[in-house]
Amino acid sequence: EYFWSQPFLHKIINLVEPSYRQKNLQLTLLNQTNFQICADSLRLQQILLNLLDNAMKYSEENTEIHLEVYQQNNQTVLTVRDQGIGIAPDDIEFIYDRLYRVEKSRSRTYGGSGIGLSVVKKLVEAHGGTIEVESKLGKGTVFTVTI
Ligand code: ATP
Ligand code: MG
Repeated sequence: EYFWSQPFLHKIINLVEPSYRQKNLQLTLLNQTNFQICADSLRLQQILLNLLDNAMKYSEENTEIHLEVYQQNNQTVLTVRDQGIGIAPDDIEFIYDRLYRVEKSRSRTYGGSGIGLSVVKKLVEAHGGTIEVESKLGKGTVFTVTI
């Protein structure tokens, strides 16, 4: 299924806007070109909503989150970059495990069940794509999805 990036991304931004606004988070869309994406649009939406939900949950108020989308070698690259609490190197390898959450206490502080990223990974793989993460504790996290 082919669809245009621009209306797709604006729909997603509209969906997360209320919760982002509540936390005073600035969501910035980088690379505003309009190109065609080849993917299952509902599943790609689910991927982005999960990553944007995490970016929101694990960020302080009044920080910025960048959503960047571009085309590279016939693939679509999507990155979600936050300035949040980050993930420790020891935890990184487990974040895609079902029900894994970095600290037990996080479930009380932030809510959630630890399912999001395991679903994201499955959906990315169903597209024959890859997901990568780069994170610094206390500085922020970048997720990069290539499909
Ligand atoms: P759910 O998504 O099911 O509501 P969740 O957000 O806790 O719950 P995942 O989305 O699977 O679960 O993420 C797993 C864990 O990885 C989180 O509990 C959190 O500790 C860590 N994590 C994920 N994204 C980020 C991020 N952007 N910044 C910091 N930590 C993150
Ligand atoms: Mg989540």
